[in-house]
Parts: sequence; structure tokens; C-alpha cells
Amino acid sequence: MGEMKTQARLMVKKFGGTSVGSVERIEAVAARVWEDIQQGQRPVVVASAMSGETNRLVRLAGEIDPFNRGMAYDMLLASGEQVSIALLAMALEKRGIRAVPLLAHQVGIQTDSVYSKARIQGVKSERLMRLVDEGVVPVVAGFQGVTLEDRITTLGRGGSDTTAVALAAALGSSACEIYTDVPAVFTADPRLVPKAKEVPFLSFEEMMEMASLGSKVLHFRCVELAVKFGVKIHVRSTFEKREGTWVVPEGERMEAPVVSSVTHDGQTVVFKLFPVPFGPGFLAELFEHLAEKGVVVDIITQSQNEEGQRLAFSVNEEDRPLVEKTLQTRLPEGSQVVVMDQMAKISTVGVGMRNHPGVAARFFKVLHELNIPLHLVTTSEIKISAVIDKENLPRAAQSLHRAFSLEED
Ligand code: ADP
Ligand code: ASP
Ligand code: MG
Repeated sequence: MGEMKTQARLMVKKFGGTSVGSVERIEAVAARVWEDIQQGQRPVVVASAMSGETNRLVRLAGEIDPFNRGMAYDMLLASGEQVSIALLAMALEKRGIRAVPLLAHQVGIQTDSVYSKARIQGVKSERLMRLVDEGVVPVVAGFQGVTLEDRITTLGRGGSDTTAVALAAALGSSACEIYTDVPAVFTADPRLVPKAKEVPFLSFEEMMEMASLGSKVLHFRCVELAVKFGVKIHVRSTFEKREGTWVVPEGERMEAPVVSSVTHDGQTVVFKLFPVPFGPGFLAELFEHLAEKGVVVDIITQSQNEEGQRLAFSVNEEDRPLVEKTLQTRLPEGSQVVVMDQMAKISTVGVGMRNHPGVAARFFKVLHELNIPLHLVTTSEIKISAVIDKENLPRAAQSLHRAFSLEED
């Protein structure tokens, strides 16, 4: 991702959808960037689409063809960011700041060609560096990339975070600021658990686990890139001046509680198949077809008894049409499919879990006491997850948060 250079005072600053959600907010962002420049910073700005816009575009696409995840789909989805960067650049210019709005192909944010979930393969830093050196503020469209064949791609929902970290890495910057509508990363989504607390420091590993478990606050791939290129992430509020959460390498944090967060993903769909052919052959074939369509399968369980083999797996709601379409053609004769929507995945995460037994016991005890049925369960060294009915999510999240002492000082 370009050679590492020390760029003192250069800072990539990413503003999310709510932060640029109206003309007033765009003006406020421009005012804040202006202040940072007065303080001697040299900003590179990344912006998401205005809030609600990408959802609107997804709905429009779905009205024509819910299965399309190709070139045209990404062309459509990428358009939201073109509007916000243009407006933000205008607001900066109005304040006497020279600003240049740039789409991904103009910067050279090169990706693979997996439409709707493309991965950044390289970022050209020359044009950005030249602009910064001339005292110009580049205002870059988040969420989008370009393939070697000059086709527009998008990086997956929430992908502007990843654009920001990729630019920071390419510019040799050791940190990147993610401005959003909450003042920090919390011990749980504050919208779900009102008693959630701000976490001043979080390890890369915990943040990566939280992001992969569906916490919206940072895009998974952005944390992956941050680890790879050693870019610290500062998650902070667009509306307040104070510092938020620093996501840093493990040794740099202050303390290591057993469980550091309760994380949820409210967009889970479970598919249950019965009976399926015995052995791994069918599984290999099915998951290969799903992977070819770009479907990310999350939890998988299979079990067997005299009646046959059962298979259950979960995916993100946005992949549901693609899974249903695949099963229409790939399901063996006689197999039944049950689709369970209105599901959510709830997880506890913490590097401290490695050395503390009993976390799983407490996790299940809490859910048992609430009489919450579990549909799928999975664990790793530093997390436990269960798929539950969405209607039980607030109770489960609040009780787990309390049970793991996350609301205490
Ligand atoms: P942006 O548009 O700025 O990228 P997002 O909506 O993608 O904002 O992410 C911010 C949201 O993430 C918050 O509004 C909050 O509801 C949600 N969130 C989920 N988990 C957490 C958490 N642990 N800490 C803070 N916010 C969280
Ligand atoms: N606008 C895109 C989305 O809504 C990217 C982002 O917000 O990061 O998913
Ligand atoms: Mg986001």
C-alpha cells in the first residue's frame, strides 16, 4: 500500500452518514475541518453517503432485481458518496479552504472485482500527497473502489471506515480518525443497552472480534487493515470535541477485563435443512456455491441421528435472497428448508476470556434465567455467540451486560 512515509500532522478524517446527514451537518463538518487546519493539521477527508441514502439505493435496486449484486448494483450504490463529497468540498471552499472532491478511481483505490463486497488491493498515494503538499484538502468518496478494468465496486455496507484506514496506511500515517454519531466505542451498543459505558482503549483483536460479530461501529475490514499496517483508530464524536476510543495493539491498553463488550448483530437469518445427504460432500458443494455468489456464511452446525443429517447455518439478512435462490437449485430431493428470520446474534467478547474459565457457564445461565431459546451457538478463544429471536435481544443484551459487570466503574 505505498511506501511508508512519516507525514507529521497529516490526518485522515472519516465522517459517517449521520455526520453528513444534512446540509447543516455538512457545514458543521467543514467548520471543524477548518479549525483543525488552523491548528496546523493537514487533513485528508473521507465521507460516507448522507444517512439513509445507501439504504434508499438498495431498496430501488431491490424493486428491479433483488438478486443482482453486479456491476450495475455497485454503480448505483456508489453514487451516494459522490453527492456528499461534492457538498462537503463546496462547504470547505466557502470557508476559503481549497478542497478537491475525489472519487475512488481518481485517487486510485484499486479493488478486486467482487461486486458489493470488494476488497481494497492497493491505494495510490501520489495524487493525494501532491494535493496535501499544495495545501489542498482531498475529500475522498468512501465505500467505493475501482477494478483494474476501470469498473466501480463497493466495499460492503459500512465500508467507508475501510477507505479511511486504507488511505492512512497508503499515506504512511500512524493513526486515523473515525468521526461518528456516538462519542466512542461502548461496552455495548448504547442504543440497545442504555447503561453501556465508553471504552477508552480497545485492543485491535477485540475490535476485530466485535466488528466481525456485527457491531456496526467499525467495518470489519478496516480493523483488519489497521492491524496489518499498524494504523491506530480513533473513534470519536462529530458533535463533541473530546477524545473517544483508541483502538490500539494489545500491549498498549490500560486494563484487560474478562469480558470487554456485549455485541449484537440484528440482521441474522438462520436456514435449517433436513434431511441432507450424509457426509461432508453435500456441505462442500453447497458452501462452494454460496461462496461463489459472495455469501458469507456465519455459524454452521450439523448433527445426525437415525433419521438423517441436519444442517443449520446463519447469514446476514442482505444475503437471504441469494441463499434462497441457491437452495432452489441445489437442495436434494426430499430435503425441507426452514428459514428463520427476525433473528439476532448476541455475543460476549474479551481477550481476558482466554484465562478465565466459567464465562460460557455464566453466559448460558443468564439466557436460561430469562427463558430465552437459543437457535445456534458458537465460541472461540475470546468470544461466545448465540443466535436468539430478535424480540429477546434487548433483554438478553442488558442482562448479559449487567452479569459481566460492564456497567460498574
Ligand atoms: P457511521 O454512519 O458514522 O459510520 P454507523 O451507524 O455505521 O455510523 O456506526 C455507528 C453506530 O454503531 C452507532 O450509532 C451505534 O448505534 C452503533 N454501535 C453498535 N455497537 C456499538 C458499540 N459497541 N459502541 C458504539 N456504537 C455502537
Ligand atoms: N454509505 C455506505 C453504507 O451506508 C458506506 C458507509 O456508510 O460506510 O453502507
Ligand atoms: Mg459506519
